[in-house]
Amino acid sequence: MSARTRLILAACVALGPGLAIAAPAGPDRAATSAITEQCAGKEDFSEPAPPARLYGNTYYVGTCTVSVLLVTSPQGHVLVNSATEKAVPSILANIRALGFKPEDIHWIVSSHEHFDHVGGLAALARATGAKVALSAPAAAVLATGKVDPADSQYTDIKDFPIAPVKADRILTPGAVVQAGPLRLRASFTPGHTTGGTSWSWQSCAITRFGTRCRTISYIDSISALAAQPYRFSDHPEVVARFRRTFAAIAARRCDVLVTPHPSASNLFERMLGEAPLGPKDACKRYAAAGRKRLNASLAKEAAESRK
Ligand SMILES: [Zn+2]
Repeated sequence: MSARTRLILAACVALGPGLAIAAPAGPDRAATSAITEQCAGKEDFSEPAPPARLYGNTYYVGTCTVSVLLVTSPQGHVLVNSATEKAVPSILANIRALGFKPEDIHWIVSSHEHFDHVGGLAALARATGAKVALSAPAAAVLATGKVDPADSQYTDIKDFPIAPVKADRILTPGAVVQAGPLRLRASFTPGHTTGGTSWSWQSCAITRFGTRCRTISYIDSISALAAQPYRFSDHPEVVARFRRTFAAIAARRCDVLVTPHPSASNLFERMLGEAPLGPKDACKRYAAAGRKRLNASLAKEAAESRK
């Protein structure tokens, strides 16, 4: 190790995590390469992945296929999404590997009430001591750990484990969750589930060029998935809800888009620099893909009922 490297390392340790000298603001490409290398061909929701900085004080600490983000501040952190129960040890290890303490997480928030996104919520809340903020429909599922029988995927996912947890706060539209200087704003984007929630926040880094900030848009899953015998055409209120969500997402100013499954928005390719990190039409395209999928499901159902 050179004297200069030793000096930089000593200064970083002195300043603490997140305050390294002239830290680059953008994604950590080397760390993202480690994710894609470790995750090649792995599709299980619980498959561990190493952590990587996404932007500024926002870090990817999730699994190979489920996004979990840590948003940090010297006065406390927020965790977005919590993956499966089996994934909890790797999420906690990732947080520690980045130099942060799980006990400094003040709030855990989520995307939607399916096991791959909230299965680990109870264990993470226990391990960190963090409070939990949920939409009312998500809180109802988490209170019992039982999937909503009205869920379009009910018969496929009803037996997957969701450990019950009581919400400390029920969110209202536009609610802001705070930890120190962090402000994460909730918006309800129902369709894929009734309690689907999206989030946005400013993420900043101190760089050699000054403070650099971008808005992170964590937009929930909007895929219209149905398990037998569910048919969207039997539920016009769900279809209408989806369409309102698509319109709201398409109209958003989407800076850096993150989705609960990274592959739904090519997150790792963008973090690697193989595609722009924040194309301006990202939310519009994401909403269009969701609309196309719903329309295809409705067309398929119509064709089947004509048989
Ligand atoms: Zn889901």
